[in-house]
Amino acid sequence: MPCIGRFAPSPTGPLHFGSLLAALASYLDIRARNGRWLLRIEDIDPPREQPGAADSILYTLDAFGLHWDGPVVYQSQRHDLYHEALQQLIRLGTAYPCTCSRKQLRARLLSHGYDGHCLRHPPVDTTTAAYRVQHTQTDHQFIDRIQGRRRYHWSAHQGDFTVFRRDGLFAYQLAVVVDDAEQGITEILRGSDLIDETPHQNELQRQLGYPQPRYAHIPVITNPQGQKLSKQNLAPAIDPVERQALLFKALRLLGQQPPAEFLAASPTELLTWARTHWRLDNIPAAMQLTPEGVPRVQPPDQPGTP
Ligand SMILES: [Zn+2]
Repeated sequence: MPCIGRFAPSPTGPLHFGSLLAALASYLDIRARNGRWLLRIEDIDPPREQPGAADSILYTLDAFGLHWDGPVVYQSQRHDLYHEALQQLIRLGTAYPCTCSRKQLRARLLSHGYDGHCLRHPPVDTTTAAYRVQHTQTDHQFIDRIQGRRRYHWSAHQGDFTVFRRDGLFAYQLAVVVDDAEQGITEILRGSDLIDETPHQNELQRQLGYPQPRYAHIPVITNPQGQKLSKQNLAPAIDPVERQALLFKALRLLGQQPPAEFLAASPTELLTWARTHWRLDNIPAAMQLTPEGVPRVQPPDQPGTP
């Protein structure tokens, strides 16, 4: 069976070091098995997007030697596919309209999950309704290749999740599942900030009759305060000029052990070494940046020093 993976960034800003780690790990995990690595731009939330960010991400990936197969897929051009999947869920009877306002949701204890209000009291006017999907099972588990077995349990409608938003946009959960199936993705490797979305995505795969890919979630890199490195807390964009040093650091953070002489190697040489020596089970449980914003890695010439 061919092995197909993908990197799927949202164009909300330029690529930062945390997303480089995810891209690199996904790329190597696929290339180590001679699989196909696809690139998808998840541009279905215009209010959060930044003009030029998609092109900047493509340029940076290319400069780092992370070359993808085939044409880039843009979610903004695939609304018909998402619309069809939503109709299928409505026909199945698992998707239902919800017209709760933010204020009502807060009052209905959304922090503990949705209480199923709109399922018990179907809205008459659905022109500005969101659509939620019900889980058909109260328990779910899956095996993550890095994080191990994950178990989930929902009572009543607490697990119901949004697939279409009141502002008329398709939700991430629906688009990602439709695209992964349509692109034949067999391996998903991404940041662990998305791990708890997986049971919802598995539920959609089951309902829509799609195969379930294998999952691996790498730890999310944090700053010394323990905050996730993200575009939201203004993680600095990475500079392609420093690509050798950054790739070397990224590999070390991922638990791979490139020899010190590769510090002077080109990205192509370093990636060639990395795909032949790739060990997914060497990825550590946590990653942290130093106060200077530089990833904390052991100097290659002093193995064993903390
Ligand atoms: Zn509702």
